[in-house]
Amino acid sequence: MLPMDVGVLKRAARPINRNESRESISMKVGYIGLGHMGRGMALNLVKAGHEVTVFDLSEEAMAALVSAGASAASSVGDLTKSVDLVFTSLPGPPQVEAVVLGEGGILENITEGQVLFELSTSSRELALRIHDAFGKKNAYMLDAPVSGGPAGAQSGDMAFWVGGDREIFDRYVEVLKAMGDKPRHVGPIGSGTIVKLVNNLTGQIFLTAMAETFSVAVKAGVDPLELWDALRLGVIGKGSALNMLTGQFLPARFDPPAFALNLAHKDVNLATQLGRELGVPMRLANLTLAEMTEALGKGLGEKDCRIYLQLQLERAGVSIAVDPEELAKRQATSPGQDA
Ligand code: NAD
Repeated sequence: MLPMDVGVLKRAARPINRNESRESISMKVGYIGLGHMGRGMALNLVKAGHEVTVFDLSEEAMAALVSAGASAASSVGDLTKSVDLVFTSLPGPPQVEAVVLGEGGILENITEGQVLFELSTSSRELALRIHDAFGKKNAYMLDAPVSGGPAGAQSGDMAFWVGGDREIFDRYVEVLKAMGDKPRHVGPIGSGTIVKLVNNLTGQIFLTAMAETFSVAVKAGVDPLELWDALRLGVIGKGSALNMLTGQFLPARFDPPAFALNLAHKDVNLATQLGRELGVPMRLANLTLAEMTEALGKGLGEKDCRIYLQLQLERAGVSIAVDPEELAKRQATSPGQDA
C-alpha cells in the first residue's frame, strides 16, 4: 500500500516519456557519503548521465566527484532540496541517524514524493524508524545495503538488497542499475538490512569455522596450501555452501538421506577427537557435534544429516519448508536474475 496517492508519486521525478528508454532518463540525484563505496557509485551515476549533487564531510572526497562532473552541495539540507532522489553511503547507524534524522538532515528538508535509498549497512530498527518518519511526510525510504566491495562499486559488479515499497523500487531500478548490475527487491522495509547482516554474519561464521578446521589439520601435519588446494576438490570447494541447503533443508525433505546423520555424526566425532588428541580447542565443531548427538538421541540417525539443523529452527520458533517447484525455478535462474 502506498501511503500517498499515485499522482504525487508521478511528480516525484521528471515525467517519463513513453518513447524514451528508462536507461536514458537523466535524473536529479543526490549522493551523501563518498568513501570507499560511495565514491565509485556516485561516479557511475555521473557516467550514466544523471545530474548528480554530492555531499561529504571530506572536501577531498567532494573534489574528486566535482572534477568528474558532479555538483557540490554546501549541506545535507541543500542537497536534499535540489534533487528527486537521495542516496546515502555512511559508515553506520550513528552517522545515518545524524544525516537522515538529525538537525538540518534529510528528513527536515525532504518533501512529498522524494525518495531516499539508504545504502549503508545499518540497523533494521533505524531503517523502520526512518521509513515511518518519511511516511508522515509522504516521502519514501528504502533500505538498500550493497555487496561487492570498493572494486564492485567502481566496476558496477554489485548487488543491492532492497527492502521497502516495491513500486518505488521498480520506478528507480534503472538508476540503481547505473551503479550495480544486481539490484534485488527482497521484501518490506528492513528486509534489505536483514539480508545484508545475515550475509556478512554467515561469512564471518564460515571464517571462524575454517580457523578451527585449518588449525587442527595443520597441527596434525598437513601443509596449509596443500589443504586449501585439496579442499577445493571436495564439497566446500565445488559449490557455494548455499547449494548444501537445496536438497533437504529448504524443502524440509530428509528422507531418503543423501548423507545419513549417523555417518555425518561419526565424521564430526572423529574430527573433534583429532582436536582433543592434539590439544586444539574446537568450539564450533563441538557445538555442532552436540547438535548432531541431540538429533541422534531423537532417533533421527537414518535421516539426512541436515535434519539436525531443525533443532535450531525449533528453538527459534520458526519452520522452513519452501515449495520445491518455486525452489527449482529459482535454481534455474542465475543469481542476479529475477525468478
Ligand atoms: P567509508 O568510511 O569509506 O565512507 C563513509 C563516508 O561517509 C566518508 O567519506 C565520510 O567522510 C562520510 N561521512 C561520514 N559522516 C558523514 C556526515 N555526517 N555527512 C556527510 N558525510 C559523512 O565507508 P565505506 O567503506 O564507503 O562504507 C560505507 C557503507 O557501506 C558502510 O555502512 C559499510 O559497512 C558498507 N559497505 C562497505 C563495504 C566495503 O567493502 N567497504 C562493502 C559493502 C558495504
